[in-house]
Amino acid sequence: MKPEQKSLLLQRFRRAAGLVLQPVVGFAAMLVCVIWLGVWQQVQMERQALGKDIAQEAANLAIVFEQNVQRTASEIERVLKYLRESYERSGFKLNWATLLQERHIVNDQTVQIAVIDRNGMMITSTAMLYPQKAVDLSDREHYRVHTYTSRDELFVSKPVVGRASGKASVQFTRRFYSEDGGFGGVLVVSLDPAHLSSAYGDINLGAGGGFALIGTDDIVRAGTGIHAKSVGKGLREAVEYGEREVTSTGTELLVAEVEGQMRRLAFRRVKGYPLSIVVAGRSIHGDTALVRNQRNYVLGAAFLTFLALLAAGGAIRNRQRHEAQLVHLARHDVLTGLRNRAQLNEDLRNAFVNSGSRQDFVLHLIDLDGFKYVNDTRGHPFGDKMLKAVAARLCAHVPHKDIVARLGGDEFAVIQTSVTDVEEAAALSDQICTLLGQPYDIDGVTAVIGASVGIAWGCKDAHNPTDLLKAADLALYSAKSQGRGRYRFHSSEMLAAHEARRSLGVSLRDAVAEDQLRVHYQPIVQAKSGEVRGYEALVRWCHPKLGWITPASFIPIAEETRLIVPIGAWVLRTACADLAKRPEHLRLAVNISPIQFRNAELVGTIKDALEMSGLAPDRLELEITESTLMQRDSITDSQIAELDALGIRIVLDDFGTGYSSLSYLHAYPISAIKIDRSFVKALDEKASAPAIIRAITTLATTLGLDTVAEGVETLRQYEQLVQLGCGEIQGYYISQPKPAAEILPPEVEQLPTEQTLAA
Ligand code: C2E
Ligand code: MG
Ligand code: MG
Repeated sequence: MKPEQKSLLLQRFRRAAGLVLQPVVGFAAMLVCVIWLGVWQQVQMERQALGKDIAQEAANLAIVFEQNVQRTASEIERVLKYLRESYERSGFKLNWATLLQERHIVNDQTVQIAVIDRNGMMITSTAMLYPQKAVDLSDREHYRVHTYTSRDELFVSKPVVGRASGKASVQFTRRFYSEDGGFGGVLVVSLDPAHLSSAYGDINLGAGGGFALIGTDDIVRAGTGIHAKSVGKGLREAVEYGEREVTSTGTELLVAEVEGQMRRLAFRRVKGYPLSIVVAGRSIHGDTALVRNQRNYVLGAAFLTFLALLAAGGAIRNRQRHEAQLVHLARHDVLTGLRNRAQLNEDLRNAFVNSGSRQDFVLHLIDLDGFKYVNDTRGHPFGDKMLKAVAARLCAHVPHKDIVARLGGDEFAVIQTSVTDVEEAAALSDQICTLLGQPYDIDGVTAVIGASVGIAWGCKDAHNPTDLLKAADLALYSAKSQGRGRYRFHSSEMLAAHEARRSLGVSLRDAVAEDQLRVHYQPIVQAKSGEVRGYEALVRWCHPKLGWITPASFIPIAEETRLIVPIGAWVLRTACADLAKRPEHLRLAVNISPIQFRNAELVGTIKDALEMSGLAPDRLELEITESTLMQRDSITDSQIAELDALGIRIVLDDFGTGYSSLSYLHAYPISAIKIDRSFVKALDEKASAPAIIRAITTLATTLGLDTVAEGVETLRQYEQLVQLGCGEIQGYYISQPKPAAEILPPEVEQLPTEQTLAA
């Protein structure tokens, strides 16, 4: 047997054992045992009671039978004694044949009466008064018994076939005396054994019952029922005795085995005669009441057993259902009902097995863009409904052969099977991005989110579920970093880039300690006068091997590794110290990442930097992005409020790139908004750009906010922005970010002309 088969069998056995060994099954089994034990005990008790009743019945009958036998025997005794006395009274002269012819001597029970002389020769008999030829009976027991002893006793023989009568009969014999007082011979009354028993034949002893008359030698003289066959045989030959008990009336009760069955026998000596009565009680086995009761008990027990088994079966089924539910819960997402990460792993394993080397399945890893914001602003119940709606859209769109799963949070996945080419995979991801980007109408509220997708091919990009998920994750990272709402296929370069990011992350740790970071400053000028109003501090990394690294490359890594907290603190200290040395009208703008805001020590860090440098709080501006406000956690909120209270200005950076929710402008103490570089750039490319910038500046003016245009590279852009109402300007047209030593102190910087820029 293969190891997998073995483990499968073992698993099944454990499962079956688990089901059978559960308490309810044990209880049901115990109940069934108790029921059947109860039935067995009840039947035994009834059998015993019935046995006793039968024994009592037999004992009573034995008394009746004894009296009957006694009567018959005394009648015969009377005849025998009458004959003997008549003979003696006649002076031993009387002819026996004459005497036997007397009336009332013979009756219908009597087969014959015979007289045997002292030598054993028959003198006469009622069947043959004058025998033609000599009948020798000297070998007969009923004759011989009287020759051995001189005792005058009645003898009752075993049933024998009479030589004179030719009939089977039981001989009642007594000796008579000769004139000299010696042994004269034997008087015989032969009785039909059937008579002895026929008198009782009418009494219904019941099935298996019987009556027997035995002599002192244990030989059955007459018998009915089960003893009918024993006539002439020893009773002990047929009966094996068991328990013994003597009743108050002197009847011996025995439990004996007769013809293989246990029977109650009642023994009773016939008083004054060498005979005993045996009554065999009817068989218990055939007792209709007992059989009926037994049948009822068995039926009842069978019914209860059925109920117990039904209950146990129900419990097992419930458990199976419960287990199936648990398995379902363990493998499915509770909120959306989609498969969860564990099940997706299983499905991917199966996909690898099924696809072989065909490389025909694709994993689409989906991350919702902006879901966190919706969830935070609209509340979790709303967010839950949105996730359900996303799941419903995916299920409705993705073909049945494919698998949809939710990995947790706002991350979903689709396994697309039997994919023929890249276009097919790209088409599905593209449709997913479009589909999930459609507005959602939830509880009467319309909300919009987006979706980014990372795609990885089974077998081509990875050979196991874990690696495939990693590959798709890298592709997703790439899609998101390239601007969300799009899909990306995994490529080997992504892994290299990931590795590079990882190693950059490692060396970034040393950057702070080894003084590899620098702060450069870019001036922000007043649009109309061109006068420098202040500087934005922009961090740079001077890598010992890689040279200058821009913040766009390492800030995301610093955020991922949370190194942004010590780096940000260092930038704050350095920039505050640098600007404190500059004229007081110059302000300092420092970028603060959302991660820094979530750290409760940010306010303390800022206070320390201000205190150590001596920079007035109102000279400091903190540039935050919408993502900071989207976090909407209490620490961020309270820190913003505290900083505002200190007189520090909060500026909304990169305005227009995120969700540009106007609600932030109301909810937070924002002093200025920085119009993102992309809008400035658009001035040269899109006709709609001026209108958008105009809308932003109008809005800002209405709200009493300053506006700063970033990334201004040309005089044309500068002039347009002035016309569109922009208050302040920042960009390469004014100056590149420069080290502290290179920025001019109080004097107004000379604005470059188009010619100098071109040069
Ligand atoms: P940002 O805050 O929007 O900063 C402006 C970025 O635009 C700077 O890029 C700046 O060099 C660049 N820039 C300015 N004028 C022009 C222009 O005319 N044309 C073009 N093409 N670019 C211009 P930089 O220094 O690479 O910084 C990139 C981003 O990194 C910053 O965007 C900011 O979000 C972040 N960053 C920089 N320093 C820090 C820092 O100390 N802390 C944090 N948390 N983020 C920082
Ligand atoms: Mg900035
Ligand atoms: Mg910016």
